[in-house]
Amino acid sequence: MTSFPEAARAELANAQLRTNLRRATETIRAKRARAVAELPDWEELREAGRAIKRQVLGNLDSYLVEFESALQAAGGRVHWARDAAEANAVVVEVARRHGADEVVKVKSLTTDEIELNEALAAAGIHALETDFAELILQLDGDWSSHILVPAIHRNRSEIRDLFARTIAPGISSNEPAALAEASRLYLRERFLEARVGVSGANFGIAETGTICVVESEGNGRMCTTLPPVLVSILGIEKLLPRFADLEVFLQLLPRSSTGERMNPYTSLWTGVTDGDGPQELHVVLLDNGRTRVLADTVGRQALHCIRCSACLNVCPVYSRTGGHAYGSIYPGPIGAILTPQLRGIDETASLPFASSLCGACYEVCPVKIDIPQVLLHLRAKVVDADGRSPKRALMHLAAWVFASPRRYVLAQRLAVLFTRPLARAGRLQKLPPPLSAWTRARDLKAPARTTFRTWWAGRR
Ligand code: SF4
Repeated sequence: MTSFPEAARAELANAQLRTNLRRATETIRAKRARAVAELPDWEELREAGRAIKRQVLGNLDSYLVEFESALQAAGGRVHWARDAAEANAVVVEVARRHGADEVVKVKSLTTDEIELNEALAAAGIHALETDFAELILQLDGDWSSHILVPAIHRNRSEIRDLFARTIAPGISSNEPAALAEASRLYLRERFLEARVGVSGANFGIAETGTICVVESEGNGRMCTTLPPVLVSILGIEKLLPRFADLEVFLQLLPRSSTGERMNPYTSLWTGVTDGDGPQELHVVLLDNGRTRVLADTVGRQALHCIRCSACLNVCPVYSRTGGHAYGSIYPGPIGAILTPQLRGIDETASLPFASSLCGACYEVCPVKIDIPQVLLHLRAKVVDADGRSPKRALMHLAAWVFASPRRYVLAQRLAVLFTRPLARAGRLQKLPPPLSAWTRARDLKAPARTTFRTWWAGRR
């Protein structure tokens, strides 16, 4: 995996991307702030969300079994998947058994995480993305850069040009209504012909075996009701104990994600019902590293995430680099703490450092995940894992210098002596390695000629 600084450098060079990102994140941020300010009990709701998620993760084994029994009693079938390969194999088997050479899909990060589309393609089955933004990315061979607005890095004219080349030759308008109509015309027939629908899920209810998907376009409801067979893939952390718990999350999620009071479409289904909706329902309970995350008492907070994306929109790092720099379908602050834990720290060591630790993500998170705390916890793991880390050596050196006033004064004098000749107009613009890592992207104020200690001694 390309390291974050390397990937970010390429993204930062794209001025159009930065403009698109700035506009989009500012708009969503302002909408969210207005929607949240309307609720006098917002902080209590956040606290309730955190408490429910803690309860789930503390008793996950029993909630999973409860969910399985309730769903089977309602006519659904549960599959347990340890990893991506097992989950993908279930979907391929179901699609093959029903002779489907195409499945229609609801936007789902979990299916992106397990690379379901690629697995289906390898089996000769096309996975058609039906969410507007996901369709754009699929048509262009691109991938998501935002949890909620996957094509946030694209503007309307770029989308119009793409549609003209692919599904809507002759389209000339870049108005949202015209673009939506073009995708609607393209998708409608495919919905009606599909034999198998595939979805993720926002929540699964242990008490009743119910699955819940929230969305804005209605494509999700079509995928989950029109095809006679439905496969839903549910990360095991998505469970809620009781149906009544939805009351908390269906307030927290829309206000935090799209800045709306409620989601335009909230679909709930429990097993199968004669003559109504899919007649065969499969639910895949996916681990794929989640039990490993659960074992870490600090890092497990990342499993509370309800994928609202509020932390992305306030993050000063994400709003400049965009999502691709994070090298995962989970970008921004949540990606910086979730991806290293799911994939392993060796492969993703730079991600916990992709943050200024400003704490804005913690302030907006609807389930109060202390993202800065987890970032620091993971940084410590990265440093501990690398016995020869230059950072570790630097910290030891700093501790040694700070432990003695004499060494501290000497270090100050040496810093002034060696850096002043490099200063231009009071700023250091180019330092030798390893300090060049800092000055490659920004300058640094040169140390003052007179230190505080010298000045103080002179006064006395
Ligand atoms: S970490 Fe919190 S703010 Fe970020 S996406 Fe998850 S729930 Fe939303």
